Amino acid sequence: MFGGVPRMKKFLHLDLDAFFASVEQLDRPELRGKPVIVGGSDNRGVVSTCSYEARAFGVRSAMPIALARKKCPQGIFVPVRYSRYQEKSAEVRAIYKAYSPLYETMGLDEAYLDVSHYDDAVPVGKELKRRIRQEVGLTCSIGLSYNKSLAKIASDLKKPDGFVIIRPHEALDVLRPLPIGAIHGIGKKSQELLEKRAIYTVEDFWQLSLDEVVQMFGKLGYSLYNRTRGIDEREIVMDRPVKSISRETTLPFDVYQSDAVLPIARELMNEVITDMKEEQVIAQTMTLKIKYADFTQRSKQQRVAPGADWSTVLEELVDAFDYSSGIRLVGVGVSNFLDKNHGPHYEQLTIFPLLRDKGSTALE
Ligand SMILES: [Mg+2]
Repeated sequence: MFGGVPRMKKFLHLDLDAFFASVEQLDRPELRGKPVIVGGSDNRGVVSTCSYEARAFGVRSAMPIALARKKCPQGIFVPVRYSRYQEKSAEVRAIYKAYSPLYETMGLDEAYLDVSHYDDAVPVGKELKRRIRQEVGLTCSIGLSYNKSLAKIASDLKKPDGFVIIRPHEALDVLRPLPIGAIHGIGKKSQELLEKRAIYTVEDFWQLSLDEVVQMFGKLGYSLYNRTRGIDEREIVMDRPVKSISRETTLPFDVYQSDAVLPIARELMNEVITDMKEEQVIAQTMTLKIKYADFTQRSKQQRVAPGADWSTVLEELVDAFDYSSGIRLVGVGVSNFLDKNHGPHYEQLTIFPLLRDKGSTALE
């Protein structure tokens, strides 16, 4: 591929199709072919993911559940099972990791791979699709191109189960008719801003000068100007080593008793334990975080001896708080990982500000 162009890089973008909904359909065959909407069973939440059958009714991610019910009354609404999706995501990662040491995960369902070391990366993409289907039971869409931005655009062009290659000489023709929102970095707000200036497509955007784009978007303007022209110099950003793992959840109503907190904390802890296994780390500190009804926040930590029973420590932490004024959020975290090479170390970490490392899972 890319014959005649010297030292051209090759990036592959892999995107699992309707991931959460597909896992539900894989685990529960009776849901296959049906409009499955993942994202909570009450009317307070938003749609996390929905199957393609539900998309046909106009249901979309981030749509309020109540609206999704209106659009698709026959929809099957199922709660988010985050730890199960993490398991499946890890299975997929175990496959693609073998093809390149340079990979970058974007959430549970997307990844970039630098596949520049293959003379021909097309068979790699085909093999990844086949193996993920056979070994994990899921379909994915793959985009292959000479930079990250175009690889992502390519994976989006023929979803689900697509495989699209954008070669250098095709890039501008592919970009030209795309809605401007398809460009990475142009969100809803930017799109509205552009539409006010009658800019709807990439081709419309081309009419703006670099100065105008920078005036509108600041520093990001340079990247956007380039990306809309098929230029993107970004490299793979490898995942940083994990220093803490945590989960938190906003409660559907304020809770006043430790009896009510414990089962929620246990559930969060189970997700954290799944993560620890996946990351192959052993934590030595557990933290419980509570947010009160008035939004003040407290956390308490306890050391955990290797091999000790997590649930006992968790119970002690839950009992250490006063719930009489009502709480609205519970978080459970672990940190202070056993250093495999240098024995135990006892660095103190403020773990909750690092939550973003693992992605927030507030199930609101
Ligand atoms: Mg996806």
